[in-house]
Amino acid sequence: IGGNWLEGRERFYSAPTKGEPKQFYCGTAELIDKACETAESAFLEYSHLSANQRADFLDAIAEELDLIGDDITEIGVLETGLPEPRLIGERGRTTSQLRLFAQHIREGMHLDIRKDKALPERKPLPRPELNMAQMPVGPVAVFGASNFPLAFSVVGGDTAAALAAGCTVVVKGHSAHPGVSELVATAVEKATIRCGIPVGTLNLVQGGDRSVGERLVTHPNIQAVGFTGSLAGGRALFNLCAARPEPIPFFGELGSVNPVFVLKGALKVRAKELAQGWANSLTMGAGQFCTNPGVVVLVRESEGVEEFLQLAELELAETADQTMLTEGIASAYCDGSKAMSQSTGVEEIIAAKAGVRNAAPGLYITSGQNFIENEHIQEEVFGPLGLVVLAEDESEVFTIARKIKGQLTCTIHMEEADIIQAEQLLPVLQRKAGRILVNGFPTGVEVADAMVHGGPYPASTNFGATSVGTLSIRRFLRPVCFQNFPDVLLPKVFK
Ligand code: NAP
Repeated sequence: IGGNWLEGRERFYSAPTKGEPKQFYCGTAELIDKACETAESAFLEYSHLSANQRADFLDAIAEELDLIGDDITEIGVLETGLPEPRLIGERGRTTSQLRLFAQHIREGMHLDIRKDKALPERKPLPRPELNMAQMPVGPVAVFGASNFPLAFSVVGGDTAAALAAGCTVVVKGHSAHPGVSELVATAVEKATIRCGIPVGTLNLVQGGDRSVGERLVTHPNIQAVGFTGSLAGGRALFNLCAARPEPIPFFGELGSVNPVFVLKGALKVRAKELAQGWANSLTMGAGQFCTNPGVVVLVRESEGVEEFLQLAELELAETADQTMLTEGIASAYCDGSKAMSQSTGVEEIIAAKAGVRNAAPGLYITSGQNFIENEHIQEEVFGPLGLVVLAEDESEVFTIARKIKGQLTCTIHMEEADIIQAEQLLPVLQRKAGRILVNGFPTGVEVADAMVHGGPYPASTNFGATSVGTLSIRRFLRPVCFQNFPDVLLPKVFK
């Protein structure tokens, strides 16, 4: 948000990996109030635009992002420490996500229209005509994620879904990349002017203390929240949403260790390939992916266990230090790996290293029994930390699957010989995760119609939803039934 509101305001500084910090206007609870008021008045107009107008707006945002792509990459590399190809790839994902939503709403798929004809002659009572469609919920709050400066930030998945649904948005930008957020917001501003979209349809506030996020989720105009971040932060904001006089849904995507179950037959024939694949997935992006496979479960006496462990150790030991997104995240990785190495029954194979803002992988081993009994070692350590769980037998693997908490993903590695065990595991894993993979690794989430990026708590705070893919639009829609409406009064979507 711009204009006179910002005059005389406090500033905060970015914390780039290289170069001078830059100044940004500092968010306050008062600015959140203004943004939420603007979002409410813009909603009255924006929600009544046709799907084609909203789709054109999404396409225009994507075009404007492409135009300033190099600037975004340049500042993004400095702010986040992520490599240039990753940021270029993430921008491509962000613009295709916007275009996919544009296509989705042009086709009217999101409306889920249902019609029941009137039955005036029905006995004993006549039936009125019923028309149902999914309608936008109102202004939505979005918290930019630290680990996706583009794909889960100002116009990332949550915002794209909300704008496609017909909702206006107030974004709290993440302090890890304020320059990227501001540049992206200027692209949205240009698209807003080009497409004649109401001013205030998207608002960005960043910086400031915790009162900013607290005011955002408790503001009466906000009707739903999209969040990606820590379990502690997400839970605190979820509780605030639930405690409001009018509670609202909080769609939080929190912690997950994404367990990988390697069955005996697969380990026997693919130990080397599996060790390399796991190490690669675990260390990708310094392990800062929500789908990072932090836990691997093997049967101790299986053929191939030694080979797997030796190769995983070799691969991880050779992985160089990587820059982390923020000093806070590096310090949380340091604390988490220390806690892991000091846990009873955990053997340290490679000690995880974390500097002020960098990290190297850690490798730890524990028994199935110890994993089952100690819930704290089942928790996510955000970063490239791997825990191998050695189960005594297949029945202990089953118990581990039953005991794990909600996950974004669970993975099975199997060969034909493993089919019976896979069939036994599947009904359990189906209740634990939003996505189950066979013979793959969970990093790399397709933005598609059938994608589910969510899962039972603590993977997410709402197990019926996804934050990636076209189905994610449903979080910001609400079914409304129009009974006995004259045609002239029926909303345009039914015509
Ligand atoms: P975070 O601490 O949860 O913060 C995310 C956003 O929520 C920030 O804008 C933060 O504001 C706000 N926030 C958090 N707690 C709040 C509270 N009590 N009241 C009001 N606002 C609050 O996440 P993060 O900064 O991205 O990273 C910290 C940790 O999150 C990581 O070490 C990692 O464990 C986890 N993480 C997990 C995932 C995942 O996908 N599973 C992704 C990213 C991070 P402030 O900036 O003002 O604190």
